[in-house]
Amino acid sequence: MNGSLDLDAILARTKEIALNELAPRAREIDETGNWPEKSIRALQKAGLGGLVLSTGIGGHGQGLLAVAKVCEILGRHCASTAMCFGMHLVGSAVISAKATPEQKNCFLIPIAEGDHLTTLSLSEPGTGAHFYIPEAELSREENGNYILNGTKSFVTNGSFADSYVVSAVIPEPEALVGHFSCVVVPGQSDGMEWQKPWSGIGMKGNSSRDVEIKNLHLPARNLLGEPGDQIWYVFEVITPYFIMAMAGTYLGIATAALEEAVDHLKTRAYSHSGISLSQKPVLQHRIGKLWAKVESVRQLIYSSAEKGDTGGNKALLSILSSKAEVSDCVVNVVNEVMTLMGGISYGENAALSRHLRDARASHVMSPTTELVRIWAGRTLLDVPLLGD
Ligand SMILES: Cc1cc2nc3c(=O)[nH]c(=O)nc-3n(C[C@H](O)[C@H](O)[C@H](O)COP(=O)(O)OP(=O)(O)OC[C@H]3O[C@@H](n4cnc5c(N)ncnc54)[C@H](O)[C@@H]3O)c2cc1C
Repeated sequence: MNGSLDLDAILARTKEIALNELAPRAREIDETGNWPEKSIRALQKAGLGGLVLSTGIGGHGQGLLAVAKVCEILGRHCASTAMCFGMHLVGSAVISAKATPEQKNCFLIPIAEGDHLTTLSLSEPGTGAHFYIPEAELSREENGNYILNGTKSFVTNGSFADSYVVSAVIPEPEALVGHFSCVVVPGQSDGMEWQKPWSGIGMKGNSSRDVEIKNLHLPARNLLGEPGDQIWYVFEVITPYFIMAMAGTYLGIATAALEEAVDHLKTRAYSHSGISLSQKPVLQHRIGKLWAKVESVRQLIYSSAEKGDTGGNKALLSILSSKAEVSDCVVNVVNEVMTLMGGISYGENAALSRHLRDARASHVMSPTTELVRIWAGRTLLDVPLLGD
């Protein structure tokens, strides 16, 4: 699909796909744990794969605000699809940040054309939540190419993506924390051994899997940026885009839960009194409070994203805080809504039970709530973000 769109048109198109493609499949994806192939392909076909790529190569030239809003709409209808597509957007932002002409041709143009799905593969079993400390190794060959070895964990879109943005260290005696390199690994490369599918309690369609990488040969042209300059990527690209994809997704889940609660309170009337729950002052008070919680987090996310897009003052502090706040918000709101909606929402196949399980991933997905709170505090106190 040609031609870049403005944000309103992008959101309208996203909503149409979310309603027609994601919503009808959300329950099945949750039950089967199947990767949401049809929904992802529909988003790519609609030209949304190149959301954050420049208009010059067929993208829409959008940034953090668009990522948050698109993922919010998707997350409202199917959180697994939102997360899978969100990780593609993060991966494509990382590739495009300092793309060479060759990388544009090989990865970015196919992404903009809807023919290529990428994803982020940073986490490792050894260093866990410290996604900025990879132990995977990138060794330089005499001919200037690389050999990659290591294990990556929880790779969303695992085994389905066309490429993986992988972090690794080029062994150097005095390398500092956060000094690593990112490479783009084509999906069909020899040397990638996908481990058994991992089954979480929620985000069932994510296909978040571990992969063993053994003696994978990679041309020098697949290195992103300069060797070791990734501290710039971590805080300028990876963290803001990662956070906005997740913040939008979790905001979408909170919004869906809130809407279900409003609907339930309006329509649930007792046979013995004929009075609906919407007439009960305690419940009016509680639903009003939940709305305020969701809306205040929405405003924080949008304003942080705008600051990030325009290089505004304290953008990183706001972005980090939005991840922590949306995680607290979504878990709390979905949990409260389950109380407001009574036994019907506790059913194994009820949408709310899916929201509760999906929402719980928010605190443990990197950057985790603990780490973003610490980084926000360090930013305020002028303490370096990484290190002791
Ligand atoms: C559904 C899902 C999808 C994912 N998708 C991807 C993906 O696509 N790509 C990817 O790279 N990764 C992905 N991950 C991995 C994720 O982002 C985390 O890196 C991973 O879950 C960390 O898990 P861990 O069990 O190793 O945590 P651990 O490192 O064992 O941490 C456990 C807890 O300790 C806390 N903690 C650790 N250090 C400190 C400290 N210094 N101070 C305070 N608290 C601390 C952490 O915040 C966490 O709460 C995904 C994870 C999930 C659950």
